[in-house]
Amino acid sequence: MTSAIVPQPGILDIALYQGGKAKIDGVADVVKLSSNENPFGPSPKAIAAAEASLGALHRYPSTDHAALRCAIGEMHGLDPDRIICGVGSDEIITFLCQAYAGPGDEVLHTEHGFLMYAISARAAGATPVAAPERERTADVDALLAACTDRTKLVFLANPNNPTGTMIGGNDLARLAGGLPPQAILVIDGAYAEYVEGYDGGAALAGARDNVVMTRTFSKLYGLGGLRIGWGYGPAAIIDVLNRVRGPFNLSATQLEAAEAAVRDADYAERCRAENARLREKLAHDLAALGVPSDTSQGNFVLARFASETEAAACDAHLQSRGLIVRRVAGYGLPHCLRITIGDEAACTRVAAAVAEFRAART
Ligand code: PMP
Repeated sequence: MTSAIVPQPGILDIALYQGGKAKIDGVADVVKLSSNENPFGPSPKAIAAAEASLGALHRYPSTDHAALRCAIGEMHGLDPDRIICGVGSDEIITFLCQAYAGPGDEVLHTEHGFLMYAISARAAGATPVAAPERERTADVDALLAACTDRTKLVFLANPNNPTGTMIGGNDLARLAGGLPPQAILVIDGAYAEYVEGYDGGAALAGARDNVVMTRTFSKLYGLGGLRIGWGYGPAAIIDVLNRVRGPFNLSATQLEAAEAAVRDADYAERCRAENARLREKLAHDLAALGVPSDTSQGNFVLARFASETEAAACDAHLQSRGLIVRRVAGYGLPHCLRITIGDEAACTRVAAAVAEFRAART
């Protein structure tokens, strides 16, 4: 007998999101390089702030996140009234889909775009649509060509996960300017802090009424475990998102830690610079071993292999050496491995393990 209890249309089309693995059975001394986390962890000031927050666990947290929004506004030069905070940038993506897309609507993203866009679109009853990329890089013309009168949201991660590639400010502006009138461009800046001199799309989101920028504390700020993200955009859109946001979506611990983290610009800059140095070194070492990658602007490289079989075999070899990286077949890149930039020792271990793998196959 079939049950009368059924979810909303589209929900069962959602493929369950698989997080990065954290351990390997029977292997000690494991390094997790599968979730683009900051290997140095958060600022010590963020840890101290999180600990201090534990003294008031019986109190509800702030509902309007004013202190955190002001700190973000101060550090990034943005109007705090146009900022919204959420449980990771995932929650901001969810709010956008909930508030702006429904049955019959389309949510556009790039071919190798972050999986949450399609998940949130389907959860809202909308239809995700993927626009082709060029050489694993977002293609503005293809995105514009894929727009219809049903397109409500266009998600673009810049830099993109898992490719690491990004497009420039002129292309972003051209995309925003060419969208149909009912569509919002969401520039996902989860990795924006890794790019020196890039504002993550903030100026565009500040100037236009159809652009929202999302950001996270999970990457450069090393707070993936606490789940804090934010969005910035036109006042009218932020007002709409606040209406669907739960009143206590962030705990005091999340709010206090994030505020301390964003204020510790020196720590963030040290992490950014070390990531850039090690990313260049790892990409160079892999290329010398015959494993190319696109120039990455994030905290990972996308290593390309000749085939899916070779990528799977290299993944298995890395695991035997205690190194967990990410298969990205779910992103349409079965012949690639996404490798998070760890600390110096981790990067050295990865290069050595890939060298062993290549040596055994030639
Ligand atoms: N956008 C992109 C492009 C990401 O890679 C991620 C994390 N994997 C997120 C958003 C979500 O990050 P969080 O919810 O931790 O802020």
